[in-house]
Amino acid sequence: MGKTILILEDEKDIRSFIVINLKRKGYRVLEASTGEEALKIIDNEPFLYVAILDIMLPGIDGLEVCEYLRQKDEEVGIIMLTAKTQEIDKVTGLYTGADDYITKPFSPVELVARVDGLCRRVDLLKGKDQEDLYSGPFRLSRESRTLFKNEKRIDLTQLEYAIVQYFLENPGVALNRDEILNEAWGEDFFGDAKIVDVNIRRIRKKIEDNSSNPKYILTVWGYGYRWNSSI
Ligand code: CA
Repeated sequence: MGKTILILEDEKDIRSFIVINLKRKGYRVLEASTGEEALKIIDNEPFLYVAILDIMLPGIDGLEVCEYLRQKDEEVGIIMLTAKTQEIDKVTGLYTGADDYITKPFSPVELVARVDGLCRRVDLLKGKDQEDLYSGPFRLSRESRTLFKNEKRIDLTQLEYAIVQYFLENPGVALNRDEILNEAWGEDFFGDAKIVDVNIRRIRKKIEDNSSNPKYILTVWGYGYRWNSSI
């Protein structure tokens, strides 16, 4: 299951826009249209990764929700949505516990990038980035950067390892070639995305039972690849 994100926004269009974009990236999204609803979710949900809170709301506003959430959870990532510059002053000037803010209007790419970034930080804070990942016959030890299939070590290059780790951290999510390229080669690498295909072919030879009929790394035609989460 994806990491849980809370979105508090009273404007339905903006809320749906955010929900669609986060769900596409594999996140589990909980929606609240009022501060009161958001507080209820916060009380009932044991582990939120990130909360996206609109400031301007009738009733309990986003800043109050932010303070409440921060008191309950020191590690959760909090992004405030602001519409006006005066509000930015409130977020940055006063102590509310917010980590970041985004000014409307914003692009989905920007929003998802901020959420991804905060999730990574939450993992670091919780030490979760070092836990082993499991999927079907596979175990990925992130501490030793090693992949096991049925507890037998599979020899991967550093690059191949980075790709497999990215898949196992995002099981079931369609990842496009550029995302894989950025993650494994780094953002500064300006190479042809076809190099991803070459490496996927090599990985398949090492991990698939039959690499001409892959069942772990699936091709998403015209897009990229997806780790089969139902193995
Ligand atoms: Ca609003």
